[in-house]
Amino acid sequence: GSTIGILGGGQLGRMMTLSGTAMGYRFITLDPTPESPCGQIARQIQADYDDVEAARELAGQADVITYEFENVDAGVAELLSKESHVPQGSELLYTTQHRLREKRAIEAAGVPVAPYREITSLSSLQQAVEELDLPSVLKTATGGYDGKGQVVLRSLDQVEPAYHELAASGRELVLEQFIDFQCEISVIAARSPQGEVKSFPVSENIHVNNILHLSIVPARVSDQVQREARRLAERLVVHLNAVGLLAVELFVTESGQLYVNELAPRPHNSGHYTMEACSTSQFEQHVRAICNLPLGDAELMTPVVMVNVLGQHLEEVVKITGQKDGSVNEFGVIPKLHLYGKEESKVGRKMGHINLLCADVQHGIDWVEQTNIWRQDHL
Ligand code: ATP
Ligand code: MG
Ligand code: MG
Repeated sequence: GSTIGILGGGQLGRMMTLSGTAMGYRFITLDPTPESPCGQIARQIQADYDDVEAARELAGQADVITYEFENVDAGVAELLSKESHVPQGSELLYTTQHRLREKRAIEAAGVPVAPYREITSLSSLQQAVEELDLPSVLKTATGGYDGKGQVVLRSLDQVEPAYHELAASGRELVLEQFIDFQCEISVIAARSPQGEVKSFPVSENIHVNNILHLSIVPARVSDQVQREARRLAERLVVHLNAVGLLAVELFVTESGQLYVNELAPRPHNSGHYTMEACSTSQFEQHVRAICNLPLGDAELMTPVVMVNVLGQHLEEVVKITGQKDGSVNEFGVIPKLHLYGKEESKVGRKMGHINLLCADVQHGIDWVEQTNIWRQDHL
């Protein structure tokens, strides 16, 4: 069998390895963390993501190279794509590492984004606030995740402090109009090197404290919105010449208008529901795409609610799913627990997730409500 090398050894790499191993592939990962989630089940080269020699060592031991971490050094990815086999290339990674480049690429594909401005100084921010109006969201162009590196501006007196706070990072900034969305959804689309394209069903995403809490599938939006969201995601993978997965986060307004929020050229937390609810998981689909296999069927087999297990939930989750995993409970829910093997459990750290298979998504939502485990986060 061939060996797949993964830049990044977190939970996404781990779940990719679990899927790909079942398909007969071997895995090796590059990650600075000893005993990374992926390194526990694959060979690991322990080094920083920008370590060129380590990256070359990975390339020397792999037939195909992919990444699971979007802030992997684009220079390293570019070098590897010249010297070895990186089916995804490095261009899309480079594009999606910077919010301005990403927005321009989305617009060039004919897909809508929220109105935005490049911010280069306090006065350019003040002008942009006048043009886009408040509320608006000031974001660093690079390096943000889980809502870090962004501030919502609701009144004029917040403009200057927010500018100084984010400018202190030394990163470029972007201002986005605040979209008064009815809900947030995402679509994960896959494209193979021959141009075969498939998208997964739309996930409705609920965040708590800027971290994904629930993914609800089918999303509670109209069929028309679902079709349109999948069409936009498929359009993006084609126009961006993507290979492998592209996760597309979108806002849906009351009137059904869609705006893309951001992209991730990799498996995505909101796609974990596919592990049991689709005949092909996002991880298998990614491996299929980068290994030039036909894409698998991506349709939904059952309604599902995915709930993230953060550090503060872990202990109690293990208790209740230890008793109930795999068996139908009074909610008519089958909870499937996935843990990432992380050594240190911290508040807000993603330790695992549960896919709640159910006849109706409301049953899964009720299950999450009644356990009390997640309620403390809403305070
Ligand atoms: P992720 O962990 O998904 O990578 P991130 O730190 O890159 O998150 P975004 O996805 O850009 O940040 O924003 C985080 C959340 O903030 C969004 O899911 C949404 O709830 C809210 N948000 C961001 N931008 C806007 C906007 N323009 N209008 C309204 N809400 C927004
Ligand atoms: Mg992001
Ligand atoms: Mg996001």
